[in-house]
Amino acid sequence: MIEPVGPLDRFVTEWLVARQSKFWEFESGRMVAMLDHDLLRYDARFSFVVQTELHKLAIMGIERLRALPNTDSRQGVRLSSFTQDQSDVTLELEGEETLRTDWLVGCDGGRGTVRSILDIPSGDFIWPERFAVLTVLDDKAAPMGCAYRCCFAGLGASWTNLFAVSGDDGRGRWRVVFPTRAEEDDEEAVWMPPRPPGCRGCTPTRMATV
Ligand SMILES: Cc1cc2nc3c(=O)[nH]c(=O)nc-3n(C[C@H](O)[C@H](O)[C@H](O)COP(=O)(O)OP(=O)(O)OC[C@H]3O[C@@H](n4cnc5c(N)ncnc54)[C@H](O)[C@@H]3O)c2cc1C
Repeated sequence: MIEPVGPLDRFVTEWLVARQSKFWEFESGRMVAMLDHDLLRYDARFSFVVQTELHKLAIMGIERLRALPNTDSRQGVRLSSFTQDQSDVTLELEGEETLRTDWLVGCDGGRGTVRSILDIPSGDFIWPERFAVLTVLDDKAAPMGCAYRCCFAGLGASWTNLFAVSGDDGRGRWRVVFPTRAEEDDEEAVWMPPRPPGCRGCTPTRMATV
């Protein structure tokens, strides 16, 4: 998917390459499984995962778009509404600007304006959960042998994902993703429970409270 957006060498060298994903058990603090993407190196062109932040990928796409002839790109401009007829689409942008185009391609997310105006349902089910994402600069995860991609799972369907990302300054940081319950407000969502009994070592929960 990324290759046509390119340049792939920049994508791989500037960001973090994860060759393994590790799975840990919350209660014991033990690693219980490892997915070694590198085993696929003779079968797949890309036998690794590139860890990056979404905005960096977006910037790469925008740069590629701007390099194409006959393009105009704008950021921070919101589509308010649109109408279409046999030949054109008329877009109303926030700020009272109007544009006429041949086509409108909606890529404004699952709950986007385009889908909503066209009354296109999102499917039978929209997952209701949100996530609490915390980022720390301290390298608390390295001593316990965390790979750049880790998943911690435990009893009662609790889970946490831990990723290393390079950050805009390239200094590296750990990003922890926690699920929240659909009914939680923001304050409840970032409340950190005490470590589960018997949990040894440095867990993402402990990291996030640093
Ligand atoms: C915490 C978290 C972690 C994730 N981690 C991963 C991961 O590791 N790997 C992975 O593959 N996926 C991951 N995902 C999922 C991934 O982020 C989404 O699937 C993906 O971003 C969806 O892309 P999209 O282009 O459809 O929509 P979006 O990324 O939501 O982009 C829609 C864009 O449209 C813009 N927009 C919306 N309305 C308008 C409007 N009216 N006018 C103009 N612009 C508008 C928005 O500002 C936004 O820029 C994660 C998601 C979350 C929440």
